[in-house]
Amino acid sequence: MNKENEILVEIINICLSLDSKAYALYAKFAANCSNTSLAEEWRICAGEEKQHIQFWTKALTLANQGELPEIFDDPESIRSSLALTEEKTQNAISKLNDFDDAVETLTMAYRLESFMLDPSLMMMLESFGFINHKIEINYDEHINRFIAMLQKYGGNDSVSPLELLGETLGSLFRRNRELSRESTVDPLTKLLNRRGFFSNIKPFANLAKRKGESVAVIMADIDDFKKINDTLGHPKGDEVIAAVAGIISETIRKSDIAGRYGGEEFIVFLNVKDEQSLEVVCQRINEAVREKSLELSGVRTTISLGAASGKISGPEESAVALIINKADENLLTAKRDGKDRCVIS
Ligand code: GH3
Ligand code: MG
Ligand code: MG
Repeated sequence: MNKENEILVEIINICLSLDSKAYALYAKFAANCSNTSLAEEWRICAGEEKQHIQFWTKALTLANQGELPEIFDDPESIRSSLALTEEKTQNAISKLNDFDDAVETLTMAYRLESFMLDPSLMMMLESFGFINHKIEINYDEHINRFIAMLQKYGGNDSVSPLELLGETLGSLFRRNRELSRESTVDPLTKLLNRRGFFSNIKPFANLAKRKGESVAVIMADIDDFKKINDTLGHPKGDEVIAAVAGIISETIRKSDIAGRYGGEEFIVFLNVKDEQSLEVVCQRINEAVREKSLELSGVRTTISLGAASGKISGPEESAVALIINKADENLLTAKRDGKDRCVIS
C-alpha cells in the first residue's frame, strides 16, 4: 500500500471511531433520558449512527484494497486535524456527568455533529458515495433531525444558544457541501469536472492494472454546436449541453465514470472486455443522443465519438493519457468522416 493510501486508511479509521463514539453516546442518552419523546429522538440518532458506521466500515475495506480515490491534496494535515478533533471529543465525553440533562447532552452531541463540518469529511461522503453506489449515505436527514432537536429541547429562552448553534450548524453544513461538490462536479451537467474525473478514475485504473484488464475511454463532442449557440443563443446551448450529458449518464452503466471534459466535450472511462462491447456502448450513446435530444432540449442534436482501449502498464497516469490521446484522434477522424458516428481503435 502506498503512503497516501495508508493515510487515507487512518483518516477513515478516525471517522469510524468518531461515529462509533456518537453511536455509543446516543444509545446511552436514550437509555438515561426521562423525557420519553427526547429519548425516542436519541434512539433514532443512534440508529442513524449505525448506518454511518456501516458506511465507514465499507469505505475502510475499499481503502485497504486501494479502491478509493486519493481525493486530498494534503492528506497528512487532514489526518492530524481529525485526530485532534477525536482527542477533544474524547476529553469532552469523559467530562460528561448528567446523562439526563437535555442541555448537557445536546451540547455534547453538537460537538460530535459539528465534526461533520470538516470539509474533508464532506469530500469523502461525496466521492466515496459516488464511486461505490453500495455505500450511499444520508447525512442530511441526520443533521436536520439534530437541528430540530436543538430547537425543540435546547432551552426555555425565546431564542436559546443551542437553537442558534443549530442554525449555524445547518447553514455551514449546506455551504460546506456545496463547496465540496463544486470542487469535483460541474454545476451545469452534474457530471464530474476534469479534476473530479481524474481523481475518480485513479483507483479503477490501478485495479485494472493489477488485474491485467483493459480499460477504455470514450471522447464525445457535440456536432455543429457553434451553430446552436449562434442561432438559438448561449442559454439554449447550455440546455443542449446539459441534455446531452444527461443522455450519456443514463446510457452508460453505473460503474462507468463520465465527466465534462471541456465546453461541449465529454469523456467516459469504462471497463470493457473487448472492442466489440466498446463499440456497442458507443453506438448506444450515439443513437440515444440522436433520438432523445429533441425531446429533452428542443434541439435535434448529434454527437461524434472517438474511443480507444488498452491495458494499463507502467505509471497509470501516462497509460491513461495515451488511451485518451488515441480516443481524441479517433474523435477527430469521426468529425472528418462526416460526424454523427463513432470511430474506435
Ligand atoms: P464540430 O462539429 O466540429 O464539433 O463543430 P462545433 O461547432 O461543435 O465546434 P466546436 O466543438 O469547436 O465548438 C465548441 C463551441 O462550444 C465553442 C464555444 O463557444 C462553445 N462552448 C463552450 N463551452 C460552452 C458552454 O458552456 N455553453 C455554451 N452555450 N457554449 C459553449
Ligand atoms: Mg463540437
Ligand atoms: Mg468541441
